[in-house]
Amino acid sequence: MTAQPVIDGQDARPGDGSAALPPTVRASLSPSRAADFKTCPLLYRFRSIDRLPERPTVEQARGTLVHAVLERLFDLPAAARTPAAAGDLVAPQWDRLVTEEPELAGLFGAGDDADAAEFLRTAAALLEGYFAVEDPRRLEPAERESLISAVVDDELLIRGYLDRLDVAPDGALRVVDYKTGGAPREAFEARALFQLKFYALVLWRTRGVVPRVLRLLYLKDAEVCDYSPDADELLRFERTVVALWQAIEQATARQDFRPRPSRLCDWCNHQAHCPTFGGTPPPFPVAGPADPLTDARSGPAVPGADE
Ligand code: SF4
Repeated sequence: MTAQPVIDGQDARPGDGSAALPPTVRASLSPSRAADFKTCPLLYRFRSIDRLPERPTVEQARGTLVHAVLERLFDLPAAARTPAAAGDLVAPQWDRLVTEEPELAGLFGAGDDADAAEFLRTAAALLEGYFAVEDPRRLEPAERESLISAVVDDELLIRGYLDRLDVAPDGALRVVDYKTGGAPREAFEARALFQLKFYALVLWRTRGVVPRVLRLLYLKDAEVCDYSPDADELLRFERTVVALWQAIEQATARQDFRPRPSRLCDWCNHQAHCPTFGGTPPPFPVAGPADPLTDARSGPAVPGADE
């Protein structure tokens, strides 16, 4: 098994991560989509092959907003990164997100100021959770919302957006992921760690350094979960990712994506099409995406969109 660095932190074709790819690369996989298949193959099919629309939920929008505020917070001089400054960013960042994604405005009915105000208040409360576990005045992130990618097994581009990367003076890497969801942590922790290992694998393959710490920051509970991978583990993980991709290819060839019910079904947008809930999947698309490397829906989820 081989791996080659491709793009690290920048991207000549924004969003698709496909610049300067070796000609052997024929598919791409983001941690979100890989985690979808691992969680439930039918969910992967609905999202990546059928491309069924998903309504943004209030919870997802709140996650995107909090990620945006935390990213902007680090634009401020270190001494100015206070809870009050973060609070002041909430409304302007929400206005910006709604301008960029007008469907977000539909989350609240026209004139539903009370719900919109409560939404902003709960986003601010999550930021209080952030300040309970970190002091951003003492941090200088090396990267924020950075798209990273690597090729594994010669054929598969793996890529995703880091929330934050901290680099210590001795070169040690710490990958930080903000979790804003209100869902029970035990239902999502395996998925969250899978995504962090995915980033760790890309960083190891592109920079030759195994991240010292993979950090999940649970803002709702104001808790930190640190995990330290090692090279052997990442090697095994790489095999797992390649095997997962092979399983996706086989399922696609057979048009056979089974539902795998779990507690995560409560957060699934597609129960109406899922046999587990009495639904019927749409006919399998006749032809898949012509070029999986330019398939926008197979691209990595933006930070905060997968909470
Ligand atoms: S409802 Fe559950 S079983 Fe059905 S597609 Fe969604 S996650 Fe899979």
